[in-house]
Amino acid sequence: MLSARQLFLQHQAQTTDFPLLLEVERAEGVFMYGPNGERYLDLISGIGVSNVGHRHPKVISAIQGQLDKYLHLMVYGEIVQTPPARLAHALAQTLPAGLDNVYFVSSGSEAIEGAMKLAKRFTGRTELIAFDKAYHGSTQGSLSLNGAESFKRSFRPLLPDVNHLEHNHLPDLEKITRRTAAVILETVQGEAGVRVPSKAYMQALRARCTKVGALLVLDEIQCGFGRTGTFWAFEQFGIVPDILTCAKGMGGGMPIGAFISRQEIMHSFKNDPMLGHITTFGGHPVSCAASLATLQIIQEEGLLEQVTAKAERFKQRLAHPAIKSIRNLGLMMAAEMESFEVLKKVIDTAILKGVLTDWFLFCDNSMRLAPPLTITFEEIDQACDILLEAIDEHCRF
Ligand code: PMP
Repeated sequence: MLSARQLFLQHQAQTTDFPLLLEVERAEGVFMYGPNGERYLDLISGIGVSNVGHRHPKVISAIQGQLDKYLHLMVYGEIVQTPPARLAHALAQTLPAGLDNVYFVSSGSEAIEGAMKLAKRFTGRTELIAFDKAYHGSTQGSLSLNGAESFKRSFRPLLPDVNHLEHNHLPDLEKITRRTAAVILETVQGEAGVRVPSKAYMQALRARCTKVGALLVLDEIQCGFGRTGTFWAFEQFGIVPDILTCAKGMGGGMPIGAFISRQEIMHSFKNDPMLGHITTFGGHPVSCAASLATLQIIQEEGLLEQVTAKAERFKQRLAHPAIKSIRNLGLMMAAEMESFEVLKKVIDTAILKGVLTDWFLFCDNSMRLAPPLTITFEEIDQACDILLEAIDEHCRF
């Protein structure tokens, strides 16, 4: 019989020159386990998915509870289902007053599609503004917002009337005008290699959008759900978006996404002239049950309180001449090295030694450090010991 590794290489679309070829049979907490008892400490968390760790018992039991009730029902939204209703309420409790209307979808890209459509419908305008090195998804619409030309070139024509601004650059804000339906921004840019804008910039961006009547859409698909140390990253910038998108960490490992807005904005998606968005699996009851458990775990286990201290521990432990700098907001971290060539060797060695990390789509000289928020200080030390061993094998000073 062919091994899973052989089947993977033969039959699954190979999307990268560097498949990790890491076979995982089981994952629990911050660890993944291979078929021969290998153990890997996960510093990726599925890029901000497993914020509460793999297979958190409360997530598993919420899923099991819903499995005993029903899996899926849908008739264009008329059926009241308990899991999405409870989740929408719980999400609203985490958000500033007014930001309390949730449209559930199945992924991050779909949340972005919904947010773009909602902004166009509500404002009646067409221009969308995004940023250099932005990543908002891989569907044709979300790809149009992508801030890396190499990523888009072969798929043109994409959405018309999408313009890009320089990230964190105040003079560019003037380009947001009364023609602009929405400005879409990752509160912390993820695939750019963790780029944190200044508070002054975010406040000026908010003010400019308000002044010209453009909606501010914050994409917290990667940085939301506790990753940065506050439940939502935007809390740290003293601003409130008009539309918020989330996915990834939201489901505790299950597929789900959402775009969230105020009642008056979401109202424009009503059956007038047609439903604004339709999705068969959006807000799947099993995913919603898992998401509600995830939200409660983050709050009840006090995970947010320790995020900053855990990030500091990483920074202290990884003080090494081969690491040029560490950019972060909470446990969304990027450790910059000399080049991709060096980083790739370090990553491969770290994996052999039992620590899983990788690089960023638009920043391939930086190591991704985004463990489950549940990681303990001892586990951080273990991970850093191995990363330093791998660095010392490949970097001579
Ligand atoms: N926005 C951001 C900031 C992301 O990081 C991602 C996924 N990497 C997406 C959108 C797209 O999410 P999905 O892969 O679930 O479509």
